[in-house]
Amino acid sequence: MVVNDTIIKSILSGLDADVFEDSTILVTGGAGFLGSWLCEALINLESNVLCLDNLVSGSIDNIHHLQNKDNFEFINHDITTYFSFDKKIDYIFHLASRASPFEFSRFPIQILKANTLGTWIVLGITLKHNSKLLYTSTSEVYGDPDPSQLPLKETYNGNVNPLGERACYDEAKRAGEAFVKAYITQHDIDARIVRIFNTYGPRIKSGNLYGRVVPNFIVQSLQSKSIEIFGDGLQTRSFSFVSDTIRGIILSLIKGNSKGEVFNIGSQDEITILELANRIKSLINSNSEIKFLDAKPDDPRRRCPDITKARTILKWQPMIPLDDGLKTTIEWFKNKIVQ
Ligand code: UDP
Repeated sequence: MVVNDTIIKSILSGLDADVFEDSTILVTGGAGFLGSWLCEALINLESNVLCLDNLVSGSIDNIHHLQNKDNFEFINHDITTYFSFDKKIDYIFHLASRASPFEFSRFPIQILKANTLGTWIVLGITLKHNSKLLYTSTSEVYGDPDPSQLPLKETYNGNVNPLGERACYDEAKRAGEAFVKAYITQHDIDARIVRIFNTYGPRIKSGNLYGRVVPNFIVQSLQSKSIEIFGDGLQTRSFSFVSDTIRGIILSLIKGNSKGEVFNIGSQDEITILELANRIKSLINSNSEIKFLDAKPDDPRRRCPDITKARTILKWQPMIPLDDGLKTTIEWFKNKIVQ
């Protein structure tokens, strides 16, 4: 619980304690990695949180410690089917979607539905309740970017293969953005979009079915198994610790002049996957060997955001250096593996 407290404190730093007081907030995907931290932070801000999740990739383990709180309610529901609320919903954070590339080939239809139909349903709720909405999009909307466009600005239109293995996610998120934009144009709803870049931290899933690169490398290193790199390892990502990402998401909703805007939320510390493997290996003092496997199709070669817009408008920037965030995540996995 010490880790939880530290992360929540970091998310809440600089936020007004009464910003959401007594309001009702819907978080779709609230039992997921990001959603559960968001719910926990919002509970600490004295709001009433409705956590909606169908638990296909989220987990009760992420929220079970919240279920005894008076201001938290879990609703097991698939966002792609209609849902209505008796209570007035003041704010909505729409996060529901599978997000791991391992899932793209197994659940492409569900991923497309969550971000298109699911977003349409959420927009209907937004309209009915006159809520303030935040849609979580992704750096994946930039696809495999033209290197001349790096660091990526919100104005870059991206380079996405509409028939590629990642299309179900990239294109669905792009359609989700277009849906939000259409509701702003036609109904003048109070909505904004954040494009989340690679995020890691406690509660992120590991393993061959769901794992992202950071948790996979940590678990492989802790278990002295081979660290499996897809491709030559020279592809890059920029990793943001979960508390920084969640604080950015919250600020994107509450800052007065964010209506209709899109923000990149992520770290600017670009690192190769090979360098990441070595970093994790050395933090753990692991004797794992590094193994190179076939590259994944359409794997973006480089990814790094330009966060000038978030810095300027939201006064947000990442605070947790990669090594510190990795150490916290490693400790969390050590405890999880021992359990
Ligand atoms: N990756 C890897 N080994 C893994 C998982 C991922 O080498 O076990 C690579 C993957 O091919 C990609 C990068 O790490 O180049 C980031 O992958 P991740 O799934 O974390 O996120 P995304 O590709 O969506 O940025």
